[in-house]
Amino acid sequence: MENGNIKWHTLTPDQVTKELETNVLKGLSGGEIDERLKRYGENKITPKKAQSSLVRFLLQFNQPLIYILLGATLVTVLLGEYLDAIVIFAVVLINSIIGYIQETKALKAIDALSRSMTTSATVIRDGKATVIKSVHLVPGDIITVQPGDKMPADVRLVSVKDLQIDESALTGESVSAEKGTEVVNTDAILGDRTNLGFATTVVTYGTAKGIVVSTGDRTEVGKINQSIATAEELDTPLTIKIRKFSHTLLWVILSFSILILLVAWLRGESLENAFMVSVALVVGAIPEGLPAAVTIMLAIGVSKMAKRRAIIRKLVAVETLGSTNVICSDKTGTLTENQMTVQKIMGGEDFFDVTGIGYKPEGKILFEGEEVDLNDSPALHHTLRGSVLCNDSRIKEDEGRWIAEGDPTEAALISAAEKAGIMDHYVDHYYPRIDEIPFQSEYQYMATLHKHEENILFLKGSVEAVLRSCTHMMDKTGKVVSIDKDFIQKNAEKMAAEGLRVLAFAFKNFDKSKTNVDHQDVAEGLIFTGLAGMIDPPREEAIKAVALCQEAGIKVKMITGDHALTAATIAAQLGIKGKTENDKLTAITGLELQKLSDAALQEVAEEVSVFARVSPDQKLRLVKALQAMDNIVAMTGDGVNDGPALKQANIGVAMGIAGTEVAKDAADMVLTDDNFASIEAAVEEGRGVLDNLTKFIVWTLPTNLGEGLVILASIAFATQLPLAPVQILWINMTTAILLGLMLTFEPKEPGIMNRPPTPANKPILTFPLIMRTLLVGTLIMVASFVLFRYELSRGATLQKAQTVATTVFIVLEAFYLFNCRSLRRSVKDIGWFSNKWVYYGTFTMLLLQLIFIHAPFMNILFHSEPIDFSSWLLILAAGLCLFTIVFIEKTVRRKLTGTEEF
Ligand code: ADP
Ligand code: MG
Repeated sequence: MENGNIKWHTLTPDQVTKELETNVLKGLSGGEIDERLKRYGENKITPKKAQSSLVRFLLQFNQPLIYILLGATLVTVLLGEYLDAIVIFAVVLINSIIGYIQETKALKAIDALSRSMTTSATVIRDGKATVIKSVHLVPGDIITVQPGDKMPADVRLVSVKDLQIDESALTGESVSAEKGTEVVNTDAILGDRTNLGFATTVVTYGTAKGIVVSTGDRTEVGKINQSIATAEELDTPLTIKIRKFSHTLLWVILSFSILILLVAWLRGESLENAFMVSVALVVGAIPEGLPAAVTIMLAIGVSKMAKRRAIIRKLVAVETLGSTNVICSDKTGTLTENQMTVQKIMGGEDFFDVTGIGYKPEGKILFEGEEVDLNDSPALHHTLRGSVLCNDSRIKEDEGRWIAEGDPTEAALISAAEKAGIMDHYVDHYYPRIDEIPFQSEYQYMATLHKHEENILFLKGSVEAVLRSCTHMMDKTGKVVSIDKDFIQKNAEKMAAEGLRVLAFAFKNFDKSKTNVDHQDVAEGLIFTGLAGMIDPPREEAIKAVALCQEAGIKVKMITGDHALTAATIAAQLGIKGKTENDKLTAITGLELQKLSDAALQEVAEEVSVFARVSPDQKLRLVKALQAMDNIVAMTGDGVNDGPALKQANIGVAMGIAGTEVAKDAADMVLTDDNFASIEAAVEEGRGVLDNLTKFIVWTLPTNLGEGLVILASIAFATQLPLAPVQILWINMTTAILLGLMLTFEPKEPGIMNRPPTPANKPILTFPLIMRTLLVGTLIMVASFVLFRYELSRGATLQKAQTVATTVFIVLEAFYLFNCRSLRRSVKDIGWFSNKWVYYGTFTMLLLQLIFIHAPFMNILFHSEPIDFSSWLLILAAGLCLFTIVFIEKTVRRKLTGTEEF
């Protein structure tokens, strides 16, 4: 059975079955599957090597700053300063190694997370349908697909129902292809092989069953190998901004350097000295580690969010989450428990109460307090029977708990019917299903056709959708009479106002020749039988999360396919704020949205917080309208057609459990627990990451500024260089890692969700922060320049004085680190010991600096020299001064502005 060259589209389903030794009804069996798995391997595409490690390492050298350092190495060699050359080159190497390691780590973190989302497939094996991971599929497996599924492998279709597949990923054709089962001629191109489903394409409509013909690398995409495994981009607006900033800075500083060279030359100083000054300025004034540090901090954010059940698929999302100010969330399952229980039923014109909670089929159906006999209530009977037949779900007991298998809405109906004594397997047997229209949000109904004395069609769906097709209704005696839509609607609204999700039921008889249904068949002439109202309580944690979001200035909007009244009632229970009318939350329906112009929609989108009966294309319009009002929007989605809205949103959020593959693909973030609280958690983490990033930048810039200033000062005063180029490299390399990066571990500040979102266009460095950077940079420069001159004046060698100047930088940055632990508050407020890492880092830095000062080999490499105890005292005093000055600056600013804003 070597089948590499078989043209599957030219074979009939029977021939394919024979060729692959399988059975369309029963599928493969256990032993055979293992054997095939061994023979064909797992069903996955070998990822195209994104970039080899070597290339990625070499690319680390492809930075302007590195060119300059390499140039500096060359010139120092020419000048005969071999040791300096070695040190500078070592720095280049170390820098590249660190960059490489950081990038690898970040890539891995992101890769692992996106990989943890495996796709699954419904397969028939040993005669039973089960859901397995797609990687375990083998040729010969029989699979079924429905809207939203990704084709898990290349499949020869054997039966289809209105199947349409989006093959744009493979063929570039943006219109969904209609599929069939007919044999296609040999030379048909990929797009014309209408009886095949190709791996990674997406089912947009209908259902199908098919035989897996090739898996893994043997599939069509596998052959093309435009694998999905291209590594995620590591660039975000922030890293790009910083890189641009560094580049501009580089040119400015380069021009300065050339100027310095010229001045020195004109003054008649040695070219060697002048060159050293220029090199020092270039390496000192440019924040070389910044882009890498930002990436690593964002990557750490990714793993923090994953711990809180939000999987980030694009690094940029971490940054955007921090500024999100509108969250549009699904209702069912995200804000609510998705634990449905039928509480009220209307059958004929009678009303029934249902007791019991959860899916456990224990409880009673009561009519005016008395338990009912189904024989006395034909309309109730008909409704319940229809609700069980027109149903794809089950309930089952699992370790003492009753759970829903499939759609909770449908499971609730099964439970209710069982309470009345209607068993689903029993009715299924007497009314075998011959055809169906599966539920899709856009249509809001589902229909099934069953064989009985006459063939009978059952319809269940939203009240509007069902009533549209009904011309008659069953009264309480079981007689079919003309319909009273007002009466039904009024009662449906009464239930909805109590927060119940309401479904309506209807049927229609057909003669025996009718064997399939389409949307035409359910368009008219149906007989209404009843309503079922079910509760779906709000999630406890969603109530808290909604409150937190609103406290944090983030608007929460409910987007649902459910009824407007149901939605408004649940939204009120959740504490969602928004436009009200007569003290009730206003809910706008999709129908009303449709009539609004784009401009009018913007206003409504901003004010109203409940959107009901919303279709996917209206979700897209809503996102656009909100964005037009300068909002940063997070939008949830799970359906086949939610893709465009998820892509358009600043943060597209897909449901990990209920979501389709399409939604997950389009999303920036996937919730593993489908819970609204996880979105809130991700926003919180996003704010924390943005905070820490800002802290790092605010901490790091004064070093570069100070270094630049100290060198300029030495030129202005025509003295020797206080810092040798290798010493500047030493400062930049060690402090960034041992001090700066410790800010990554800074816990989220208390009250992080009490302040408004940071507008996306707000610069990282606001005016107060720029002022502080200037202040600290100047102070460091003054301290190191003054102490340098003082050492020289009391007879120290140049080396010793330079060592003191270097140590000033290290020690002052360490003190300043404690100021930077919070941008707004004092260390006292956030707790001296809430981040133990800053202590570990500072301590290690100190040890390293002692080695720098005292170890003979370091003295040779870095031109350092042991310094006096009195110098240490002066340096520490300077550090303490700096800390105190910034401490006072922060306090005064807080007092003056009366806020903790920055
Ligand atoms: P939601 O946002 O609450 O998940 P849906 O789009 O899933 O809304 O459903 C919209 C409406 O369609 C529901 O209010 C209900 O009336 C109806 N409906 C939901 N599930 C089913 C189903 N399985 N079969 C028939 N009708 C359904
Ligand atoms: Mg739903």
